[in-house]
Amino acid sequence: MKPLYLDYHATTPVDPRVLADMLPFFTEQFGNPHSKQHAWGWEARDAVDRARAQVAALINASPSEVVFTSGATESSNLALRGAMDARGGLARRSLGEGGNHVITVATEHKSVLDVCRGFEQQGCAVTVIGVGRDGLIDLEALRAALTPRTRLVSVMAANNEIGTLQPIAAVGAIVRAHGALFHTDAAQAIGKVPIDVRAMSIDLLSLTGHKFYGPKGCGALFVRRMKPKLALTPQVAGGGQENGLRSGTLNVPGIVGLGRAAEICRLEMAEESARLASLRDRLLDGLRARLSDVRVNGSLEHRLPHNLHVSFDGIEGEALLMALGDLAVSTGSACASGSQAVSHVMAAIGATSDHASASIRFGLGRTTAGDEIDFAIDRVATVVSALRKGAVSV
Ligand SMILES: *Cc1c(COP(=O)(O)O)cnc(C)c1O
Repeated sequence: MKPLYLDYHATTPVDPRVLADMLPFFTEQFGNPHSKQHAWGWEARDAVDRARAQVAALINASPSEVVFTSGATESSNLALRGAMDARGGLARRSLGEGGNHVITVATEHKSVLDVCRGFEQQGCAVTVIGVGRDGLIDLEALRAALTPRTRLVSVMAANNEIGTLQPIAAVGAIVRAHGALFHTDAAQAIGKVPIDVRAMSIDLLSLTGHKFYGPKGCGALFVRRMKPKLALTPQVAGGGQENGLRSGTLNVPGIVGLGRAAEICRLEMAEESARLASLRDRLLDGLRARLSDVRVNGSLEHRLPHNLHVSFDGIEGEALLMALGDLAVSTGSACASGSQAVSHVMAAIGATSDHASASIRFGLGRTTAGDEIDFAIDRVATVVSALRKGAVSV
């Protein structure tokens, strides 16, 4: 029997309703949406337009502001590199004109941090602001970091390890008032908590299908329509698709799936997130009822509803995972798995290496049921108790 999957921050399965919508676009409806001269092209084009509207509706954008990509990694690369490459060129009269300073946060995903490291090597100034023990940025620190040269600020909506929700609306207001561009990596937040690009003053937003029950390898970048136009330098050149921002034939089945996945989240998110939060609380309460010294990492209040990241004092996370063969969970970040070093997120919240290595991330999902949570509580409590007593086999 396969273990119980509680690693929904790493990826999610495709919802069967999403798959059903995608399937015809692999076979009968295989047209290229750029073929303007026949019905195959037209029906593919219609499907892509529908998906664009579905993605836009989830974040209160307009369809023309959605650029399809291969996922959040590509979206963030396009947003950050595209905005910085365009400095002084087409973007002259747009926000953050000519600036060569970028601000980001220590707990960002590698796809943002590594791009920013690249900026530094090109002589651009990068300020990485820290977070508190709760994982939250300090808005005063953000204000203090802004300079007249700041072109871009990138702050993630939700953290993929400890689930912390940053105060995105407040960040957006500060950055907009300053006249810089605001990018947010919303890969984990999308479909779990409401995101409104207008109310939150977001200029650029990255999302990826496989984190909200859509397909892998398909995502989008929201690019706010503004005057003068927010010019991004394309990072993939070619046939000029997606308004020249991202060349290459569109992944029609993937895009259809991304759109349907977005629509399902829009309709079901409120109820589903409440259900997940109550299951998450049941998991924490259950662990605490059976074990002492269970520490929650990051803010409990400003947190994704389906995330629990806890440390069990005195335990090695790796040993715990080995003993917990019937639970598919993760230590630290799945994206950085394989590396033995303390996660940069745990380091940023001030965790010692002992504390960090004693941590486990639970991610709950759409099919997680109450009896599965009870099973997880029992398995974790049994294994942690045994490991603490020094028992060899559990
Ligand atoms: C998963 C994830 C990404 C990357 O998404 P891809 O689909 O791998 O491109 C980026 N940021 C965060 C916060 C993520 O959780």
